[in-house]
Amino acid sequence: MSQSMSAASAAELARSAFRRLAVLRLAPTPENYARIWAELASARNPAGAPPDGAAQAADTAGAAQTGAAQFAAAAAADATPVSAAPGVVRSAAPSLTPATHGAATSPTLAAGVWRQMWEQGLHLGLIPASVDPRLQQRAAQLLQLAQGSAQAQALLGDNRELWQQFERALAHERGTVDGVLDLFSMLVAHVGEVFAGDSAAALEFGTLQQVCRRPLERSRIDLARSVMEPWLRRQAALQRSALEARATSREVVGSVVRGLGTFLEHNGRFNQSLQQDLGRLESDLDQEALRGLARELRQRGVELHEHGSQLGQSLHKAQQQAEVALHRIRRLESELEQASQQLQQDPLTGALNRRGLDVAFMRDSTRAAEQQRPLSVALLDLDHFKQINDSYGHDFGDEVLRGLVQVARKLVRPGDSIARMGGEEFMMLFPDTDADAAQRATERLLQGFRNRRVLHRSTGQRVEMTFSAGVAQFQVSEAFGELYERADLALRQAKQGGRQQVVQAAPRHEA
Ligand code: GH3
Ligand code: MG
Ligand code: MG
Repeated sequence: MSQSMSAASAAELARSAFRRLAVLRLAPTPENYARIWAELASARNPAGAPPDGAAQAADTAGAAQTGAAQFAAAAAADATPVSAAPGVVRSAAPSLTPATHGAATSPTLAAGVWRQMWEQGLHLGLIPASVDPRLQQRAAQLLQLAQGSAQAQALLGDNRELWQQFERALAHERGTVDGVLDLFSMLVAHVGEVFAGDSAAALEFGTLQQVCRRPLERSRIDLARSVMEPWLRRQAALQRSALEARATSREVVGSVVRGLGTFLEHNGRFNQSLQQDLGRLESDLDQEALRGLARELRQRGVELHEHGSQLGQSLHKAQQQAEVALHRIRRLESELEQASQQLQQDPLTGALNRRGLDVAFMRDSTRAAEQQRPLSVALLDLDHFKQINDSYGHDFGDEVLRGLVQVARKLVRPGDSIARMGGEEFMMLFPDTDADAAQRATERLLQGFRNRRVLHRSTGQRVEMTFSAGVAQFQVSEAFGELYERADLALRQAKQGGRQQVVQAAPRHEA
C-alpha cells in the first residue's frame, strides 16, 4: 500500500477484510485480521504490499490511529508464537477470546486492539456504505454490545450475519442501478432513433449515451444535464409552434371540406328539383306553368352560381391560408433541426462553441481512455489580429475568422473538431493522434491558412494571416483545464518564439 492510497480504498480494504473473516468463519482476532488484510492487500498490489498495511490504511482513512498502530504491532508480535504458519484460528475452537490465541502477548492489549479494529471496520466500511438504515442500526447495536462484552464468540455470529446482510444489500443495490441504467440506455437509443435524421441531435444523444456507461460518473451526468436542458426547452418551444401551424392547416382543410359539402348538397338539391321539374314538364304543358317553371329554374341557377362562386372564393382563400401554414411548418421544421446545432455552435464561424467543445472533448477523451488510443489538442491564436482589425475593419476580421474555420474543415480529418474558445482563439481536437502527428496536422493547417490570403474587397488587397499554436497530448485522467493550461503554455512559447509556429507542450508533471 502506497502513501497515495485513498481513504476510500482503505475503507474498502477494511470492509473486505472483515467480510472475509465472517465468510471464512474466522474469529476476529488480530492475527486472523492481519493475515486476511495482507492477503487482500497483496492481491490488490502484487508489486509489494508492506506487512503493516493495516496500520497505514487505517491511518490514511483517518481512523483512530493509535488502535491501528498498536494492532499492527500486536499482530506482528502475535504471528510467531501462534504457529509456524502464521495463525489462522477456526471459530470452532472452544474458546475464542483473544487470550487463547495470543499466549505470548498481553491478552488485554490484543483484545482491546482487535475490538478497536473491528469497530473501525464497521465505522469505516459498513455504516457509510450501507444504504439500508436498518443495517446501520444493527451495526450500531452491535458496537454497543461490544462495549459490554469480552466474548469474541458472542460477537462473531452477529458480525458474520451483519456482513452477509450487507453483502446481499450491496448486490441488490448494484442490481437495481444496473437495471435502471439498462432501461435508461434503451430509452436513449429509442428516442435517438426518432431524431435519426438530425445530425446535431446526434451530439446530444451521444452525450446521453456517455452517461449510461459504467461506472456512473457525476461529471458526465452534470454535463449531459447542462447540454440537454436548453436543447429540450428549445425543442419543446418549436414543437409547440409547429403544432399550432399544423392545427391551422387542419382548420383550413376542414373549412374547405365543409364548403364543398355545402356546395354538393345545394347541387344535389338542384338536381333533385330539376328532375321533378322535368317530370312536371312532360305532363303539364300549361303556358303559365311553363313560365313559372322557367322562373324557378333561373332562380335556382342563380343560387347555384352564387354558391359556386362563394365556394370558389373560399377555396382560393383556403388555398392561400394553407400555403402560409405550410410555409410556416417548413420553416419551423428547419429551425427545429438547426436549434440543437446552434446550441453547440459559434454563430459567427460555425465552429463548435465552448459547450460543443465540452461535449466533443468528453466523447473523445472517454473513447481515448477506453480504447487506449492517443488524443491531442491544439490551441490556436491568430497573430497580430488586433492590427488586422485596425487596418482593414472589424468585418474583414470576422471574414478572417470564418476563413480559418473553412480551411480547417478542408485540411483536417472528418473526426477532428474545431471549436472557437472566444475572440480569435480556437481549439482543435485530434482523436487517435499523438502529439507529433497533431503538430504536423496543425503545421499543415498553418500553411493552408497562410496561403489562403483573404481578399479585402474595397482595396482588392490579399492579406496574409498566420496563427501560433500549442499542441498537447491528452493524458488519461487529466482534467480538461490541465490539458488546456499545458497547450496554452506551449502557445505562449510559440508567440514568444516569433509567432507563426506550432510548439509542443511538455507532458504533465506527475505528482
Ligand atoms: P497576438 O499575436 O499576440 O495574439 O496579437 P493579437 O493582436 O492577435 O492579440 P490581442 O489579444 O491583443 O488581440 C485580439 C483581438 O481580437 C482584439 C479583438 O478586437 C479581436 N477580436 C476578438 N473577437 C473578435 C471578433 O469576433 N471579430 C473580430 N473581427 N475581432 C475580434
Ligand atoms: Mg488572443
Ligand atoms: Mg492573437
